[in-house]
Amino acid sequence: MSKAIAIWDEIMTSLETECSTVSFDVWVKTLQPVCISENKLILLATNSEHKENVNSKLRILIRQVLKQSKPYIEDIIVALSDELSLYADDEKEQAASEFDVKLSAPNEIMKKYNFENFVIGKCNEYAVEAAKSISNNPGEQYNPFFLYGDSGLGKTHIMHAIGNSIMMSKPELKIVYVTSEKFLNDFITSIPTGSAKEVAKSFREKYRKADVLIIDDVQFISGKTATVEELFHTFNELHDSGKQLIFTSDRPPSELRDIEDRLRSRFGWGLIIDVQQPDYETRIAILRKKSQAKFVNIPIDVLSIMAEEMNSNIRDMESLLNKVIFLSGLTKRAPSKELVYEALKDYRNVVEEKISSDSILDCVCAYFKLSPDDILGKKKTKDIVEPRQICMYLMTEYTNYPLGTIGKQLGGRDHTTIMHARDKIEKMLGTVERVRTAVEDIKCMIFKK
Ligand code: ADP
Ligand code: MG
Repeated sequence: MSKAIAIWDEIMTSLETECSTVSFDVWVKTLQPVCISENKLILLATNSEHKENVNSKLRILIRQVLKQSKPYIEDIIVALSDELSLYADDEKEQAASEFDVKLSAPNEIMKKYNFENFVIGKCNEYAVEAAKSISNNPGEQYNPFFLYGDSGLGKTHIMHAIGNSIMMSKPELKIVYVTSEKFLNDFITSIPTGSAKEVAKSFREKYRKADVLIIDDVQFISGKTATVEELFHTFNELHDSGKQLIFTSDRPPSELRDIEDRLRSRFGWGLIIDVQQPDYETRIAILRKKSQAKFVNIPIDVLSIMAEEMNSNIRDMESLLNKVIFLSGLTKRAPSKELVYEALKDYRNVVEEKISSDSILDCVCAYFKLSPDDILGKKKTKDIVEPRQICMYLMTEYTNYPLGTIGKQLGGRDHTTIMHARDKIEKMLGTVERVRTAVEDIKCMIFKK
């Protein structure tokens, strides 16, 4: 572990008790320790609003904590990704002569995710068709392949299935699978002398020598300017030499924020496909397959309750199934409807510990003196539209529900409406004082409940 990470971990532990939960979650946890430069701790902020807020709200507190526990660190510097090149890493300077960046090992392709155990339904048939065709002819047909959709719908599974399939048929090909966070971290640790232009050889070796490069959840590099730029060059080099590029994201390229247009447009050069929520029959088939893989036989009426209760996220549905199997083993009872209800109770407790949609709706209504019917209804006057969009934004921030579910909870709206509102309010937070104050105040109300 680098010194910066170790120090920041310690500081965070103190900060957790010193500042409010909201501040901690929103501003502190999202900072990334980068290095120690000239005895200052360099922290990477996600965007300029983040940076400003940390500097204005938390800097003094962080300095105090540093003074007490790490007096040799003089201060913190909150930087954006394109400013990182200004700061040389003290540790690396010392070791400069024998410099060799140790990149994190590439993520292994997971054997457990393959095409054989992936259930095909209307929601994902095109995605699987394309994935299989790419596995047969990497680099030739659909390049890049861009797969998007809400969380828990099988995107990562399909990525690994492609990897497994190519490893079987063309073992000589070098497949690199990484999440975009890993790409980002590798990139940051690879800047040896403080200049983003001088990226370590090992980084380029790893990424530019790939025959198949898979980057999962690419939305997380939004706003990380230097990393986006590096990805752009990696993309060009690989694409020019006919190597296969594959990306997943929770949204289509057109909705990726803070990504240069030239990279965004390249994402669309090949094939863009989405995965959607599975219908009831597909959910049952998935539950069947998953339980068979665990050699557990569960009656269809029991599976059907699980499929009914968990309709928007397969990861959650799978975790419910695991819970039922676990309870069944523990209590030595065959899986039954009762057991599902028992498991659901536990499951819901976990969900309820997070912030509920209702409490967000209540707080928004109380703040703006509106009724839930106003928010859920269709009226389009400005005094209702903005609170409604703020409500949508807060629900995307503080619940784990996919956009489609939030849409349903808010009067049966489409997931694109929620996405639009989220992006709009997020933008306004940086520019419109009224909106910023409202969001801050409502957050306080939500967390005080
Ligand atoms: P995403 O990357 O879209 O968030 P994942 O690929 O991580 O979703 O999928 C979440 C879980 O659901 C995984 O355990 C995966 O195996 C399972 N899953 C999703 N879709 C299917 C499917 N069609 N058939 C079998 N399992 C699936
Ligand atoms: Mg995933």
